[in-house]
Amino acid sequence: MLVVALTGGIGAGKSTVAQYFAELGALVIDADQLARIAIERGSDGFSEVLLRFGDDIIVNGDIDRKKLAEIIFSDQSARKDLEAIIHPRVQAIFAEAVEDLGEDDILIYEIPLLVETDAAEKFDYVITVEADLESRKARLLKKGLYISQIEKRIAAQATPQSREAIADTVIRNDGDEDELLRQVENLWESVLLPLSLG
Ligand code: ATP
Repeated sequence: MLVVALTGGIGAGKSTVAQYFAELGALVIDADQLARIAIERGSDGFSEVLLRFGDDIIVNGDIDRKKLAEIIFSDQSARKDLEAIIHPRVQAIFAEAVEDLGEDDILIYEIPLLVETDAAEKFDYVITVEADLESRKARLLKKGLYISQIEKRIAAQATPQSREAIADTVIRNDGDEDELLRQVENLWESVLLPLSLG
């Protein structure tokens, strides 16, 4: 069993890399998805978010994640409060998933806030996906984010240097998707598979 953290700046290509790993046979878990589960309707995380952020955060019975994102990327103390609600719950769900792993499984955990949550030590191997700022901004604009949102989110994240400092490998995603796939295949064959076999 091998538990790998996959991090990177927003828009650098984490989800694309995770999808390539899944196609090669990895199990993939996305921390953002666990964060959604942590505050889904009816959960105690849901109640805690309401207590902290008020009823205005609810749209059609669910927490409006866009509204929440707008608040926390403009207000650092709100971000810390939300993280204090979400992170312990995400960690508990993740720990359960790891317990269910088989001996030969390779788990790729897509975790944008690896540096920020000081979690690198928990993983057998750490990968960060990095790309130049202009490519990241262009990709995020294409995904539908506004430039003001992009800049706030990038400013709220750890720096590329701090991610690279804790990573075992840096995947550079400055070229096209074929070039990215080649790097992922190479890492899978020459590093992750051998590590998983001990
Ligand atoms: P986020 O932090 O927003 O979740 P991410 O790091 O997971 O982003 P992706 O969603 O994988 O990044 O990539 C962002 C966008 O850029 C996607 O639309 C993806 O298809 C595209 N993309 C990724 N890599 C490349 C590439 N090498 N060339 C062109 N487009 C790319």
